[in-house]
Amino acid sequence: MRVFKFGGASVKNAPAVVNTASIINAHKDEPLLVVVSAMGKTTNALEVIVQSILNKQDYQHELQQIKDYHRSITDTLFDANHAIHKEIISVLDSINNLSNKPFSDDQLYDQVVSLGEIVSTLIVAAYVNHRGNGCTWLDAREFIRTDANYREGKVDWENSKKAMSSISFEGNRCFVTQGFIGRTSDGFTTTLGREGSDFTAAIFAACLKATSVTIWKDVPGVMNADPKRLPAAIVFDELPFKEAAEMTYYGASVIHPKTIKPLANAGIPLLVKNFDNINLPGTRIHECKVDELPPLIVFKDNQCLISCKVVDYTFIDEAQLGIIFKALSELSIKINLMQNSAISFSFCVDFRENKILKLVESLQHHFEVYYNTGLTLITVKNYDEKTFDFYRKQKGVMLEQSSRSTLQVLVKA
Ligand code: ASP
Ligand code: MG
Repeated sequence: MRVFKFGGASVKNAPAVVNTASIINAHKDEPLLVVVSAMGKTTNALEVIVQSILNKQDYQHELQQIKDYHRSITDTLFDANHAIHKEIISVLDSINNLSNKPFSDDQLYDQVVSLGEIVSTLIVAAYVNHRGNGCTWLDAREFIRTDANYREGKVDWENSKKAMSSISFEGNRCFVTQGFIGRTSDGFTTTLGREGSDFTAAIFAACLKATSVTIWKDVPGVMNADPKRLPAAIVFDELPFKEAAEMTYYGASVIHPKTIKPLANAGIPLLVKNFDNINLPGTRIHECKVDELPPLIVFKDNQCLISCKVVDYTFIDEAQLGIIFKALSELSIKINLMQNSAISFSFCVDFRENKILKLVESLQHHFEVYYNTGLTLITVKNYDEKTFDFYRKQKGVMLEQSSRSTLQVLVKA
């Protein structure tokens, strides 16, 4: 069997759903498990509702917009008397019940935000069936088992695998299920972290021993840079797992960072293909040797540079670094780049305002702390002379670091 994954953009409106159904139907020669995300920007919209519930504000206007958005899609795809219209509204209206339950903030988030994937997959499955190509809707929460770490559920691989052993592909069956969501042992919905549907596809593939995973995207494959930023970007025909994993680490958003590991461990190739032109070859990520890769350029926006300066004439030492790392670890903040000098330690992190302000406050007990926001971290992997010079010499470089293969510069956007 193989696993397909379709993201929000591939089901963002009625024509996109039609296209997704056509791709599914064109691949019915092998058993298929299809993982689908929430439609378009639904997850962001549901996050706004969660925030309103937590702030005890009215959210009916926002909820109505989400209902209208899905209704406009089902209106185009189905007859007026099809059961799907009511089904979607009733799933979305369940938010009103959830909002009164005694959940923790993150637990509430997962119960509400997961509904985006539920309604999306109900629509896609109903539409594939409507076109006469049978498929079965699966509730991914029955199979993806996690701990109770809401918003970042940690997968319980053993129990997930056990649960999946009940899935039978006899007769070339096709299943449609949700990305991004799972369930705790006591029955509450969890999510796996934003953009986690790729990871879901990898979990199903690894547990079910799939022959491959295909992620369908709006780009022709994995490219050596974001084509919106560098129009001359090229598509890789193939990439080693290791190279792809490192790309995601540096911030390439084409694949979720957690996706590669389970696939590489199980030796399952990952294909990245274009949903607008299924005849394009795309990129094959697998165990392979590629002689010379072109420079790979990753832009990571919304970065913050924090500098901790010692307050007297001591130098930065292990004890002081210990304080900084402890504060980072307590807030689960990941460093993207770091550098030290005699009297200061500087590091670059994603700017998530709440967390960063807490971090700065805690560091201020020990250091003089400065920070700059609105920066972009540019990573050039496998650089050549030309790219090396170009990115180092651009305007606004605040911090720079290079090894034999990788250059990183932090610049004012
Ligand atoms: N819908 C979720 C999100 O937007 C998961 C995903 O798209 O992968 O984060
Ligand atoms: Mg998404």
